[in-house]
Amino acid sequence: MSTPVRVRFAPSPTGPLHIGGVRTALYNYLFARKMGGKMLLRIEDTDQNRFVPGAEEYILESLRWVGIEIDEGQSMGGPHAPYRQSERREIYQKEAQRLIDEGKAYYAFDTAEELDAMRKRLEEANAPAAQYNSITRMQMRNSLTMKADEVRARIDAGDPYVIRLKTPRKEEVRLNDIIRGWVNVHSSAIDDKVLLKSDGLPTYHLANIVDDHLMGITHVIRGEEWLPSAPLHVLLYRYLGWEDTMPQFAHLPLLLKPEGNGKLSKRDADLGGFPIFPLQWTDPFTGQVAKGFREEGYLPEATVNFLALLGWNPGTEQELFTMDELIASFDLAQVHKAGARFDIQKAQWFNHQYVRQRSDAELAPTVQEQAEAAGFTCSPEKAEKIVALLKGRVNFAREIFTEAGTIFNAPATYDEAIAAAKWNDDAVRAVTAFRDALQSFDGAFVADDIKHALGDAMQQAGIKQGKIMQAMRLALTGSGAGPDLMLTMEIIGKDETMKRLEQALGALHVKS
Ligand code: GLU
Repeated sequence: MSTPVRVRFAPSPTGPLHIGGVRTALYNYLFARKMGGKMLLRIEDTDQNRFVPGAEEYILESLRWVGIEIDEGQSMGGPHAPYRQSERREIYQKEAQRLIDEGKAYYAFDTAEELDAMRKRLEEANAPAAQYNSITRMQMRNSLTMKADEVRARIDAGDPYVIRLKTPRKEEVRLNDIIRGWVNVHSSAIDDKVLLKSDGLPTYHLANIVDDHLMGITHVIRGEEWLPSAPLHVLLYRYLGWEDTMPQFAHLPLLLKPEGNGKLSKRDADLGGFPIFPLQWTDPFTGQVAKGFREEGYLPEATVNFLALLGWNPGTEQELFTMDELIASFDLAQVHKAGARFDIQKAQWFNHQYVRQRSDAELAPTVQEQAEAAGFTCSPEKAEKIVALLKGRVNFAREIFTEAGTIFNAPATYDEAIAAAKWNDDAVRAVTAFRDALQSFDGAFVADDIKHALGDAMQQAGIKQGKIMQAMRLALTGSGAGPDLMLTMEIIGKDETMKRLEQALGALHVKS
């Protein structure tokens, strides 16, 4: 039997989770569910300088909002707890020490000034890369160049030091990425990365590898920005003696600007006026507010559907997917290599689809609240009818109320072009006849009966109904197009309908 799939989402709480991070979490989740595996959440907070208060809570809330369920990890607990890296420092220290003991890592005492000086020397010598590596390390202040008792003495005296990886000089490093195929790198291109920092905390690289191993991760699914680090990670697995159980890698394509070239940035979002964070975020230091998909009115199911197709396609024409359908169709092999253009119009289209699918009762409170806030009375029944009439015409639930302007307000003006084309003697006769007919209308004022009443009145007056419908709409709403007119009348009610017909007869004049 093959090992059960275990994947992880491993964000760093350095600010609001980017929407690309939500996509990474989603792909991990879809893969885990599809394979009957487990989805872990690990908080990678070892960079104390970049820690931002509230960011972890934001991550958890974002995942909850889109419906990504965590099986094990931060906020859930599990057999490998704690799942916050800052609470696991002894584990990393132990592994770093093991690497030192085995001669695969070393202590380095260089000060910032000394590192700067090295960088300058290398630059002046036109050396290819200014870095700490198998050649330059021998000119630096570290346990490879210093005497053992001096090293001990410094450590005992509490001098600051870091632990660096002793990268081999000549070794092939290969990995077979599920999405990108073979990646080959020569170890001479990898520098002696810091594994443990002077504050005793590990760097991302060490903590990430140690935890993925200890937590039994089988697949590392993450953004393309981590691809350059992957060879180093393979090397770390090798050095730590875990290469035979190393997870498989899948590096997801970048999210590109709406125009398609270059990486999507916060600036693109600001310029385009669209969100690139799942939830609204208030920066705790500057108070600056960044837009969120949720607060902009995107439904979680639309957001998920949009993100799922940013970099993956099912190989069919199907575009609308529930989470369960995504789980059933998802396949890492169908994730693209090429970057995915962030097309916000597509997100709006998905939202339109999902707003339509919401029940009238679910959307009604939004309309009712907006109407009441604007000073109108609006019963739940009326709000529901408005939703039924208009939800197919909007991208966002909040736009239903905007679209309902002609329901809440009698026309203040009338579309001039329509008036010029359609307001003629027949129109005046039709509107008058219908108004008169409504005077004797009794019973429930509902669309079907209104339709009959109108039909009868037009027949009696000898007017072809098709010819005057636009004028009728103009009289009632001020414009020449809009949603079902009978339902509109039902919603505004008999008295208001008659009042508007009357108003139009006074305000509109037949051009001679
Ligand atoms: N902590 C890293 C991040 O913030 C995780 C990268 C990975 O998944 O290995 O994206």
